[in-house]
Amino acid sequence: MTASIISGTEIARQIREELKQEIIELKAKHNLVPGLATVLVGEDPASQSYVGAKEKTSIELGIYSERIDRPEKTTQEELMALVDRLNKDPKIHGILVQLPLPKHLDETEVLYAINPKKDVDGFHPVNVGKLMIGEPDYLPCTPHGIQQLLIRSGVQIEGAEVVVVGRSNIVGKPIANILLQKRPGANATVTVCHTGTRDISFHTKRADILIVAAGRPKAVTADMVKEGVVVIDVGVNRVGKTAEGKAILVGDVDFEGVKEKASAITPVPGGVGPMTITMLMLNTVRAAKLAAGLA
Ligand code: NAP
Repeated sequence: MTASIISGTEIARQIREELKQEIIELKAKHNLVPGLATVLVGEDPASQSYVGAKEKTSIELGIYSERIDRPEKTTQEELMALVDRLNKDPKIHGILVQLPLPKHLDETEVLYAINPKKDVDGFHPVNVGKLMIGEPDYLPCTPHGIQQLLIRSGVQIEGAEVVVVGRSNIVGKPIANILLQKRPGANATVTVCHTGTRDISFHTKRADILIVAAGRPKAVTADMVKEGVVVIDVGVNRVGKTAEGKAILVGDVDFEGVKEKASAITPVPGGVGPMTITMLMLNTVRAAKLAAGLA
């Protein structure tokens, strides 16, 4: 079997088109323009490129975008004051503080200070708790993108054996939580593996849907999966540079080997990546609707 490719680029394009229409209608019917503030502290090139992409996408969709760049030497007090200002700004419905912050800053204190109603990343403990009890206002962006990739590719999630490799707070734990909820597009049996798992292959070989977020190239190889599995590769690993100096990216799954056994698989790049930014836009629109009493 050679896998069909689940294109995150294409599915993200469809969702962005839907969002664009929704944003036009919100403006026309309710004079409501969703607003997103993106905060970048320091000059980390990867963070600059992520924030740049978020700003560009929000502008393309008609979202009011405020990009705030602060120097590396920004103090905790200055950053907290900025978050406070954005919490109070009615034009801003979503606040995104790009991580990681420079080492001298307390990330947890900053993330906890964001008003949960504007926490479009879904990282605030209030939103993590709401997800856990099945009453989320926002789903965190990467896991929500993964769920949408599965739903929009027609993958049967209900009743499926889902195995997640990785238990981070931003991918592994929330995707496990989302897919085990008793609701459409979920209701799966979920197993989560990590570095303490005794025999990872034992679990991955049982998976109907395998979601890999380990941050290790080739963490999953063809001998670790069953025929017909659907594979979502979340990993983004920089393994070198092209002659032109562009980063060479690979996922966590040995794509060439696994695609011969899988029924469907996401590529890297072009799989989960484009979905993450798109779901941030979706959360910003939702935040605006919640603030206006429209959701
Ligand atoms: P993370 O915080 O480093 O967590 C990695 C998790 O994988 C940990 O729970 C770790 O176990 C587990 N793990 C590592 N190696 C393993 C192995 N060989 N077998 C089993 N489990 C293993 O990473 P993350 O933030 O979740 O990100 C994971 C990957 O996804 C990274 O490559 C990241 O760049 C990528 N990512 C992509 C997007 C996107 O939008 N495309 C978004 C977020 C992340 P322990 O807990 O035991 O250490």
